[in-house]
Amino acid sequence: MQEQTEGNEKSVYDLIVIGGGPAGMMAAGRAAERGKTVLLLEKNESLGKKLLISAQGRCNVTNSAPMHVFLEAYGKAGNFLRTALTAFDNESLRRFLADRGVATVEERKGRVFPESQRADTILNALISYMNEHGVTINSGVNAVRLKLSDREIAGVETNPPIPPLTKGGKGDLYCRNCLIATGGLSYPSTGSTGDGYRMASEMGHTITPTYPSIVAFETAERWVTSLQGFPLKNVKIKAFQKSVCIAEQFGEALFTHYGISGPTILDMSKKIVESLPSGPVTLRIDLKPYSTQEELDNTILYHLKKHGGKQIKNALDGFLSPRLAPTLLKICEIDEFEKASQVGKSERKKLAKLLKDLRLILIRHRPIEEAMVTAGGVNLDEIDPKTMQSKIFKGLYFAGEILDVDGPTGGFNLQAAFSTGYLVGESIC
Ligand SMILES: Cc1cc2nc3c(=O)[nH]c(=O)nc-3n(C[C@H](O)[C@H](O)[C@H](O)COP(=O)(O)OP(=O)(O)OC[C@H]3O[C@@H](n4cnc5c(N)ncnc54)[C@H](O)[C@@H]3O)c2cc1C
Repeated sequence: MQEQTEGNEKSVYDLIVIGGGPAGMMAAGRAAERGKTVLLLEKNESLGKKLLISAQGRCNVTNSAPMHVFLEAYGKAGNFLRTALTAFDNESLRRFLADRGVATVEERKGRVFPESQRADTILNALISYMNEHGVTINSGVNAVRLKLSDREIAGVETNPPIPPLTKGGKGDLYCRNCLIATGGLSYPSTGSTGDGYRMASEMGHTITPTYPSIVAFETAERWVTSLQGFPLKNVKIKAFQKSVCIAEQFGEALFTHYGISGPTILDMSKKIVESLPSGPVTLRIDLKPYSTQEELDNTILYHLKKHGGKQIKNALDGFLSPRLAPTLLKICEIDEFEKASQVGKSERKKLAKLLKDLRLILIRHRPIEEAMVTAGGVNLDEIDPKTMQSKIFKGLYFAGEILDVDGPTGGFNLQAAFSTGYLVGESIC
């Protein structure tokens, strides 16, 4: 690693990794395992802050889906990821973790979690991988910009400067290759504040406009506030713009104080965010997808007859949640205190219709800071998919969320970070 320049001794790393998230740690570990000298810079005091909060601390580390599902999950970026996903796929990741004592389990929809249900077991495996192979880890150090020499990457300037390297001049670090793995823009408190986009554009890279993905929405309807925290289970949701259905999902949603969130909404969010600039999007929710409107009308009638003496909101107990019923009755302009026996046919039918078609107008998405993933990023046309190396600067690499790559929920985003990181580790060797 020691080299002589103009009488000065300086340290030249084979690889400097900027960013100690899943992508950066995997790349650093793999390059070091292959015998390269590697320095990892992380601006937080500790590594993998976002990894630790993934899936509410449980870390949905990958998905058991076959390759073709992975390739489709990333949309247009799927093809770009083919080499990375082949070099290090979901099975390789599970084996890698198992070799480090982290057993994984598969849950609903192929989601893979550590058996411990704790994200820190994943982080610890990555840290011990790096330690095992001698990666130098410098946390609490902010990478500021890249240094060039004859259109090749030569080093990284940091703040604060790293003491042993000041001999080379002004605290600069020297390297033959540099990986920018600084993540996206979501959850900035975890360290992903967009520094990498700036560094990439200073190097001449184009940044495809960024926007939130896997994000919740604000609704025009204010009644949602009264249902804050109420989950809708086994519902069918379709998102329409004008008369066109742009996305649909079956599963769970959640009312919030500002609008709606939950797994189905998050999974449809990319499509909806992309559509919102052209106007509002309407969600049409089928609250009882297993029954027809006529069947629902009959069920309501049965309850009203059975509990004729009760107020309607109580008469429907067992059929409609007592938390949800008053709001739905209000939307139908039915007095919740009305005696069940007095509820008319037209009111009943109105309610049955609403159960099949509850509408919410989505007016805006929540800010990118609250999104799970950043869509957009470093333009993939400027990166060699076989290596993750920049086509503009030799020795410059990108991996993880900084790339214009994003997937749905289910472990696809972490797998993309691990696979692209691994490929960088391989490529510099
Ligand atoms: C709440 C939440 C839950 C999630 N859950 C899941 C899940 O269960 N499954 C899944 O697949 N995905 C999940 N994701 C997405 C996933 O966590 C990210 O896609 C993944 O962490 C991206 O990895 P990365 O290494 O590219 O970036 P990051 O994990 O963001 O890491 C980037 C690192 O770079 C550091 N850095 C930034 N700038 C500098 C600089 N100038 N100098 C030095 N260091 C710098 C940052 O501090 C950070 O540590 C979740 C995201 C969120 C926000």
